Amino acid sequence: MNELNGIPRMIDTHCHLENVAFDLDRDSIIIDAKNLGISIITSSIDKETWDKSCKIAEAYPSVFASVGLDPTHFVDCDLVIRWLESNHERLVAIGETGLDHYLIRDHQERDLQEACFRKLISLSNEYQLPIQVHSRSAGGKALEVLESCDASKVHLHAFDGKASLARTASRDLGYYFSIPTSVVRSPQKQKLVKAVHIERLLLETDSPVLSPDKQTRNVPANLPIALKEVASILRREEEEVREIVLENTLKLYSKIKTN
Ligand SMILES: [Zn+2]
Repeated sequence: MNELNGIPRMIDTHCHLENVAFDLDRDSIIIDAKNLGISIITSSIDKETWDKSCKIAEAYPSVFASVGLDPTHFVDCDLVIRWLESNHERLVAIGETGLDHYLIRDHQERDLQEACFRKLISLSNEYQLPIQVHSRSAGGKALEVLESCDASKVHLHAFDGKASLARTASRDLGYYFSIPTSVVRSPQKQKLVKAVHIERLLLETDSPVLSPDKQTRNVPANLPIALKEVASILRREEEEVREIVLENTLKLYSKIKTN
């Protein structure tokens, strides 16, 4: 048994189980993770999958749903807000959402993207749900927006901004940062591990992407690979890091019931 009194050993804090990449074998993917004591937060980012991810979470006690909007889909902002207003009780978080300055170059479009991000932050404050944040080539700006909105429960996933920004945000603002499985092949993520305050570290797979091995589909059962790498970077025992990260996760995700 990998579980003690219903408490998971680990939580994959960010992935995309509702993705079509899992349509043929989702059940066994969830069971494989569960057999390793891994619970999963799945983050839906488009209108086609908001209900789908909730239904998956409702079917498996080890899966929890988060609903947000891909930052490039800002035209659907009103739609996601309406969906969240009537469905937020089904969720443990809002997101992922945020800023993508890599794909969105036009300044007017960036303004619309930011306006949508701000609205979702204010909903996360109102419902007291953590917000899962995506930032691509916009790490500093995303942190600036979060701070100016007084975001209270912040989870930055696969943060690609400067390590020094993560150092300050995790220490001074209490923001959490999840390290993805791709840490084994990303010097930027390895730097991030050292920068983030250990009490603000989380782990994620971002399945089906960010696999430890770039060519293959990522799965939540790969989460221990991230743990192993993080422990080695921090020169700590794996079990000690596992316990700290789990405690961090349950502190932020207070809606996840452990028995
Ligand atoms: Zn993601």
